[in-house]
This record gives sequence, structure tokens and C-alpha cells, in this order.
Amino acid sequence: MNNQSYLQKIDNQLFSNFGLNFYVYRLDLAHLPIGGNKYFKLKYNLIQAQSAGFDTLLTFGGAYSNHILATALAGQALGLQTIGIIRGEETLPLNSTLAFAQTCGMKLHYLDRQSYRQKDSEQIKTELKTRFGDFYLIPEGGTNLWAVHGASEISHEIDLDFDFICTPCGTGGTLAGLVAGLQASQMALGFSVLKGGDFLNSSIATLLTDYQAISSKKIFATNFKIFTEYHFGGYAKKQPALENFIQEFQSTYQIPLEWIYTGKMFYGIFDLIAQGFFPFGSTIVALHTGGLR
Ligand SMILES: *Cc1c(COP(=O)(O)O)cnc(C)c1O
Repeated sequence: MNNQSYLQKIDNQLFSNFGLNFYVYRLDLAHLPIGGNKYFKLKYNLIQAQSAGFDTLLTFGGAYSNHILATALAGQALGLQTIGIIRGEETLPLNSTLAFAQTCGMKLHYLDRQSYRQKDSEQIKTELKTRFGDFYLIPEGGTNLWAVHGASEISHEIDLDFDFICTPCGTGGTLAGLVAGLQASQMALGFSVLKGGDFLNSSIATLLTDYQAISSKKIFATNFKIFTEYHFGGYAKKQPALENFIQEFQSTYQIPLEWIYTGKMFYGIFDLIAQGFFPFGSTIVALHTGGLR
């Protein structure tokens, strides 16, 4: 498949009432088996780790983290050791995410919640180095400047003169990358899947400032907006309205969604459309970030 076959136009009465051109960019179909946005976030981190001669990747995540799984797969594909530092206590049997990560060769290590909160401290890093030796560290959720650089390629890849590009947000690394790839007239919209997603505004602004400092390209760092009202109770929480929406969406468009990320984003976009948020005639791209397995 080439990139343009990932771009899929969908239509309904709501879109035509508001004069909207609506596309889904199907990253869920791209770059498998890692797939989705995680491929782009890891790409330059992996190149960096390899060119600096590291043979081990270490990263952090919750027990259901797609990033943990993607790192395990990437390590397996490239012949790098992987260590996943998991928040909380070990629960046996392992859930499917962690079981699969382990099958890929990832070594799992658990940090109690209090230590996990200190995971960026020098003390925890030193402890991990003592235990595991030298490693290339990828932060929680995979978000750093290399991830922003990788995700900026998503905007470049989409061969369409869109006005808005939408993505679900966990850490906001993907959204920062999308913004870094935009033209002056384009806008990126992020839908927080966590309760209390207001931190995203400042963390994305910081990522973009730091990225601009190392990039020769002009970045339109204010061309984004975060919506924090579509979390449905918080990370990995769902409610009947969300489940009903996902079912109806899937049967109407034959595009699979999950309820942690993409379901919440599409719900949010459809709600904004109904409220008249998008100017008549706008072209919108919704990024299907994957997350299905
Ligand atoms: C990780 C993930 C996201 C969130 O990406 P961030 O860069 O952390 O905001 C969105 N969608 C899916 C499917 C993911 O796995």
C-alpha cells in the first residue's frame, strides 16, 4: 500500500450540512506490526540508539501501554534488548499487552507507584543502570524530541490540502509532531483521553519550543487546540454513550475503533461538527492512530 491509500474519505448528512470534507488517515493500516503513531514516535529514537551503539532500550509505561508493546516489537525486529519498566505491582497472569511484550523478548520490571512517579529522577535512573547496565532511555509514552521529529512526518505524508488535522492525545507527543509539520494556515486539534488534560497545552508548547531550537524549518507553534471534555471519565474509562458511538461508527464506515484513544477522538470531532465549530467548506483529516490488536 502507498501512503495515499491510507487516506479515506467518509461522508454523511452531518458533514454535508456543514459543507465539510472529511478524511480519515488510516495509520492503523500502516507500518505494521508496530503500526499507528507509535512507529513514527519510535523511528528516530531507534536510529539514534543504534547509531550511538546501544544494544538495549529501556522505557516506561502502564500495564496496557501501546508504547511498551511497540518498543518490544521494535527491539525484536532490530535485535536490541528491551526492558519495560511497568507502573505498579505485577499481576499474574500477565494481561495480553505484557504477555505479548514478554514474548517479543522484553524484560519486565515493576516499580511501585511512588517510585514510578520519581522515574525521571537521577536516583531511579542510577538504580536502573546498576540493575540493567547501560541503556538508551525512551521516556514514558515515547515522547521526546525525536518522537516529535518522527511524528512531523505524518503531516508531510498526507498529500491533501487540509485545514484541520485531529489526533487523540495521551502525552501529546504526536500532536506536537503534527504541529511541527503544519503550514501557516493549518491547525491541529488534540482530544485528551485523560482526565485533566490541561497540562497538554504547556507540555506541547515546551516540546515545540525545544524542537524549534534544533530545527531549521519554521514551526507554527501556536497552531493547535486541545479539547479536554471528551475523556469519558479518564484514561481507559468508557461509558455507554462512547460504546454506542463506536458501534455505530464501525457499522457505518467499516473502520474499527477502540475506546481508549480513537473512539474518544471521533466522538469529540462529531460533537464539534454538530456544534458548528468548523467553518463551512473546511477539509478535516482525522488521524486514526491505531491501537487495535
Ligand atoms: C499512544 C497512542 C496515542 C497517544 O499518543 P501521544 O503521542 O502520547 O499523545 C494515541 N492513539 C493511540 C492509538 C496510541 O496508541
